[in-house]
Amino acid sequence: MWVCPKCGRSFKNMEQSHYCGKPPATIEEYIAAQPEEAQDYLLQINAAIKASIPESKEKISWSMPTYWKGRNLIQFAASKRHIGLYPGPEAVEAFAGRLTEYTTSKGTIQLPYSKPLPLELIGEIANWCFKKYVNHCIQWFNHHRPVKQTPVNESNLITRCGKATDEQPNWNQVGI
Ligand SMILES: [Zn+2]
Repeated sequence: MWVCPKCGRSFKNMEQSHYCGKPPATIEEYIAAQPEEAQDYLLQINAAIKASIPESKEKISWSMPTYWKGRNLIQFAASKRHIGLYPGPEAVEAFAGRLTEYTTSKGTIQLPYSKPLPLELIGEIANWCFKKYVNHCIQWFNHHRPVKQTPVNESNLITRCGKATDEQPNWNQVGI
């Protein structure tokens, strides 16, 4: 945890680059407030994530652009020399074989400005995070369903809920 001496806001990362004025309320505002050299990278990353998980919600959480579906699925933030991508430790582990060129730590992937962005891979990672949440919902529903009801799978979960469930898994949303 690092507290900016200028504006007093706290961040996960030391020296997190940010705008010290009014905190951004949307991903667009966040990107617009970043240094120019970071903006193009942020726009590309944001577009890749948005395209791969269009059913999730965009928000700012922990002062970072966040894609949310029942939980924070994936987040990113600009630093001095790289963009930090935060898909969580399990995703970083699952994609480790394809991330050997990048610095990673628990739950974080550093995407340096000196390299072209692996946009396809970023999209796949975001989608993996989304699927993981859907699978979590399926398990939850199947665990809690009354005995007579048919087990839920991905396609009937998505059909019955409209999309994967938004808030806490709720059996009534699935309906019978
Ligand atoms: Zn500040």
